[in-house]
Amino acid sequence: MSASIEIANVTKRYAALTVLDDISLSIAAGEFVVFLGPSGCGKSTLLRMIAGLEDVSEGTIAVDGARVDDRPPGQRGVAMVFQSYALYPHMTVAENMSFGLQNVKVPREEIARRVRYAAETLEIAHLLDRKPAKLSGGQRQRVAIGRAIVKEPKAFLFDEPLSNLDAALRGRTRLELAQLHKRLRSTMIFVTHDQVEAMTLADRIVVMHDRRIEQVGTPMEIYHRPATRFVASFVGSPP
Ligand code: ADP
Ligand code: MG
Repeated sequence: MSASIEIANVTKRYAALTVLDDISLSIAAGEFVVFLGPSGCGKSTLLRMIAGLEDVSEGTIAVDGARVDDRPPGQRGVAMVFQSYALYPHMTVAENMSFGLQNVKVPREEIARRVRYAAETLEIAHLLDRKPAKLSGGQRQRVAIGRAIVKEPKAFLFDEPLSNLDAALRGRTRLELAQLHKRLRSTMIFVTHDQVEAMTLADRIVVMHDRRIEQVGTPMEIYHRPATRFVASFVGSPP
């Protein structure tokens, strides 16, 4: 299950401040796309608009041909994983994972099946009865991904999901995300300011800078044929 995503001439303003200026991008079903750019360039804002969590000022965003702002939350076919994980501290892992499904009327046995599948996939089945406070950072991060998996979305939206992990765990989780993409075949959009993450995960990288898209290409294209001086300096030199 995967969705195409069509972003057409999208501009975003906060009062007088334009944070994204005339962005257009087509993402194919099943593609793994990374939005790469420095802090403040508008990556999270664009991701939140794709999720329908934020209005566009101009232009349109469609998931599988249907405009996100035409559909209620929960029926947009996308699931977002936040940098902060945003887990509910008073709920167990299982409750955290199943919470979002109760609103969209998934039967109880089906919820249990999906939670089991996600927990096994992420190797957190032994943690289902724990509260978030009793988990490591890496385990919390898995729960946050599990909460997206149980929604069976056509597209996953990740906002810097690895940035709170230490270097070793970040590398391992990166590999696991790549495997998850192979297994689920969903469309994935992954936001990061980390060039290595972008290079290793992406089918295509979207380099963003100063409210605009600087270049879209495969990691090899971006690395060997940077279209602008900014891309060359940002991707070429370590952070
Ligand atoms: P990134 O994720 O690339 O770091 P963001 O999308 O978070 O960038 O932010 C892009 C710009 O929009 C920044 O200048 C930020 O200060 C501004 N911004 C983000 N959210 C808001 C908001 N709710 N109100 C006003 N400005 C915002
Ligand atoms: Mg951000």
